[in-house]
Formats: sequence, structure tokens, C-alpha cells
Amino acid sequence: MTDLANPPIAARPAPATHSLPARYKGATVLAIGAHPDDLELAIGGTLAKLRETGARVVMGVVSIPADYETRRAEAEAAAAILGCELRVLVDGGRTQRIEDMKTYELVKVLDAVIKELQPAAVLTHGPSEFHRDHVLVYDAAISTQRLRYFDFFCYHPNFCRPVPVQFHPRAYVDVSDTIEAKMAAIAAHRSQFGNRNLPIDIYRDIARMNGRIVGVQYAEGLDVGRMLLA
Ligand SMILES: [Zn+2]
Repeated sequence: MTDLANPPIAARPAPATHSLPARYKGATVLAIGAHPDDLELAIGGTLAKLRETGARVVMGVVSIPADYETRRAEAEAAAAILGCELRVLVDGGRTQRIEDMKTYELVKVLDAVIKELQPAAVLTHGPSEFHRDHVLVYDAAISTQRLRYFDFFCYHPNFCRPVPVQFHPRAYVDVSDTIEAKMAAIAAHRSQFGNRNLPIDIYRDIARMNGRIVGVQYAEGLDVGRMLLA
């Protein structure tokens, strides 16, 4: 038996030149999520870390599907906790379901924000999500890669109630220092969790499991769509 109190991989600090802060310091990082709460669940720790270390981090929420006032307020509170800028990309002060948009309209919305922000990295949903809106956003985000170069990452599939979904991280972000901000940002979405008596500890568990894989306390996993190693 191995001692489970010790990580199987020795925690060894990555060289500073390999760090996330070094890669994106002073640059803009755009995270795209279909709905309020998607970004917090998947990469809240990563976004807080990027922000704390000098990147401009924009949380692009495609639309608010229901309960506009409440969910917008929750998204604003969560973004403030993470220190990031919130953008609702299809707004107009009302709810909008992504499935009701034409594909070209969704691509146009994402194209516009990419052209405006010129991000160094984009993080968004992956193709294996079970929520149709998430897959639609992934498909539209994929096509924005034609506009210019940026690093492209996909994050862990999201759910309010756990379901089996396929995801293989190929990069990990050490979020040991920002896990509490992530959990607080998730908790800010009361209409999705607290008010429905849905526990949020599974998101800490996922981060703990990813951390164990790479020898740190907490980590968030990313799939790499494209990444320029210069
Ligand atoms: Zn969602």
C-alpha cells in the first residue's frame, strides 16, 4: 500500500518561465461560458489566479437564459469575487436562450468579442458536454480561431448535478492559492445551488483530484486546443 496522505507525484514548483502568470501577464485572457456560473465551476481558480498575477481577465457569458435580474446579479457578484470583468455577450436586458440563435449569429457574437479584445488566450467549453448550449458555444468558439492566433483551451464539462462525461485534461493549473475564491464565486450563484439545496463540495473534490494527479493541493484541468510554444 502506498501512503495516500502523500501525493503520488512529488510537488515540485514549475520553473517561473513555465508559469501561467509569466505567459499571460499584461495580456488579455477571454473566458467564454454559455451561462452564468459555467466559468466559476470549471475555471474559477484559474481566472482568479490570472487576474491576481496581472492579466486582464474577461468573463464572457454568452447569455442569461432565465431569471434575468437574479442571475445577472449573481454573475456580477461572482466576477467581483474573482476580480474579473463580466461581459454578457448577448444582453439587451433580457433573457436569451442560445438554442434560439442561428449558428452564424452566435459565431458573429464571438467574432466581435475576439476582434475587440484580441485575447492572448481563450478558454471555453469542450465538445463532450452534455448540455447542448455548451456544445453550441464550443462549436462557435472553435471557428473564431480563424481570426487570429490565441492559445485555445477547453475546460471541464459543467453540471449542477454530477453526470458521467468524458474529459481528459492535458494541462493543469495549480489553483491551491485561489480555490477559496473559486468556491465563494460558485456559492454566489445561490439560485443554482444554495436555494436548490445542491451541495457545491464536488467542485472542490474535482480540484483536489486534479491536484493529486500533478502533485499540488488543488488544480483545474484543461484540454489544449492549440498552444504556441515559442
Ligand atoms: Zn451552462
